[in-house]
Amino acid sequence: MQTSRLERLRLRLVEKEVEGLLLTQLDNIGYISGFTGSTAVALVTERAALFFVDSRYEVQAQAQCPEFEVRKVSDGLLVTAAKSAQEMGVRTLGFEQDYVTVRQHTDLGNECPDLTLMGLSGMVEDMRQVKDAGEIDLIRTACKIVDDTFAFILPRIKPGVRERDLALELDWRMRRLGAEKEGFDTIIASGCRSAMPHGKASEKIIEAGDFVTLDFGPRRQGYHADLTRTVVVGKATDEQRKVYHTVLEAQLKAIDALRPGVAGKAVDEVARNHIKGAGYGDYFGHGLGHGLGRAVHDGPTNSPKSEAILQAGVVTTIEPGIYIPDWGGVRIEDDCLITETGCEVLTHSPKELIEV
Ligand code: ZN
Ligand code: ZN
Repeated sequence: MQTSRLERLRLRLVEKEVEGLLLTQLDNIGYISGFTGSTAVALVTERAALFFVDSRYEVQAQAQCPEFEVRKVSDGLLVTAAKSAQEMGVRTLGFEQDYVTVRQHTDLGNECPDLTLMGLSGMVEDMRQVKDAGEIDLIRTACKIVDDTFAFILPRIKPGVRERDLALELDWRMRRLGAEKEGFDTIIASGCRSAMPHGKASEKIIEAGDFVTLDFGPRRQGYHADLTRTVVVGKATDEQRKVYHTVLEAQLKAIDALRPGVAGKAVDEVARNHIKGAGYGDYFGHGLGHGLGRAVHDGPTNSPKSEAILQAGVVTTIEPGIYIPDWGGVRIEDDCLITETGCEVLTHSPKELIEV
């Protein structure tokens, strides 16, 4: 599996007409090499694959990255890697322009005057969009953790509980179920705060009548799940019911539209049109969903601006929402695997309106 990733990356170097590529983004490095540490630079050329680490990671890199020759460096990983490329006769060297700082770029230019540096984007990210069977298994396991965590936390949502305390219990539960850590800061937004799509858990006490939006997910073995559910504390009002069902119907319609060959933009439009039709068009400001994998926001995106065409093997979230300032909001999010014929929803937490 690892061999083919490295070989596939080499084919991309040929397409881009660079003789070598410096990898600095850790998810990309991990995908190509297997490394799980926090500091490294990889250099890939047509024939060589070198891995630069400091003394903390020498042993680990040797164990995790069998296809790479590991080199221990005392400082300046990036410049050392570029100099190695120069010494091997590389003239055109690609680098990940979205992750290299202006200062690092200046240093590279000064230290390696013989190299033509070429900023590239998406070299590994594009490869990462379509998941292989092993990756899908890891995402399934992460999805099982979110579902089990939601079942655990649901009876604990009640008036008088502080959002932050609930988040702490939720995070603890995810870890007990096997998460390495939270994939992102857990969102628990109740009452008027639920109108904030990304309202991190706060000091607010949950009250009767509140919408409570929970958005959370673990990172496990480098892969993520991402679930959102919104519940009502007590009996829902007619307006709460209407908003909730509008979001739910939009989400179900969008999931129904998922299949290989469909445009990310078109899926977004299905949900957006439904929400517009119900009169809430002004209250759905964000994109419908994002790819999920090594990053919580992996490619491709489903949004009005997306140019992506979904392919089998892509895992994407579908997460429409309605957020009404000073009133509250609803979002419902599931993780979906695009299959050869349609899609498989990987998260299974209940989503009929829940009154707790
Ligand atoms: Zn989410
Ligand atoms: Zn999400």
